[in-house]
Amino acid sequence: MNQLLEKRGLRATPHRVRIAQKVLQEHCHFTAEDICGWAGGLKKRLSRATVYNILNEFVAVGLLKSFYSSALGKTIYDSNTENHFHLYDTDKDQILDVDPSLVTVNTSGLKGYRIDQIEILMKGRRR
Ligand SMILES: [Zn+2]
Repeated sequence: MNQLLEKRGLRATPHRVRIAQKVLQEHCHFTAEDICGWAGGLKKRLSRATVYNILNEFVAVGLLKSFYSSALGKTIYDSNTENHFHLYDTDKDQILDVDPSLVTVNTSGLKGYRIDQIEILMKGRRR
């Protein structure tokens, strides 16, 4: 984990390493509040400011992505930094990654624009 942080220009402080171990070892979607809740239960607690600062640092260096979902009313952090869409499973209260090849978006009607990025969050449940 230390090398991963240092490769991105971040000093591997104990706090950064602890949060990196929590959010980067397995693919996950989470809010800063999720991590604040977890960090508050640690033996060596991390302050909310520390959690927010470190998450934002991770986004700035490309270790995490973040997006604000107006549908969910919150900012989501994502350890998958590849291009992908999202499906929010309303029954499971869980965000799933969706391969962009599974979704067709027709932007041909947007004359005069070059689309650089498309972000989609769908809501649904299993049939
Ligand atoms: Zn995702």
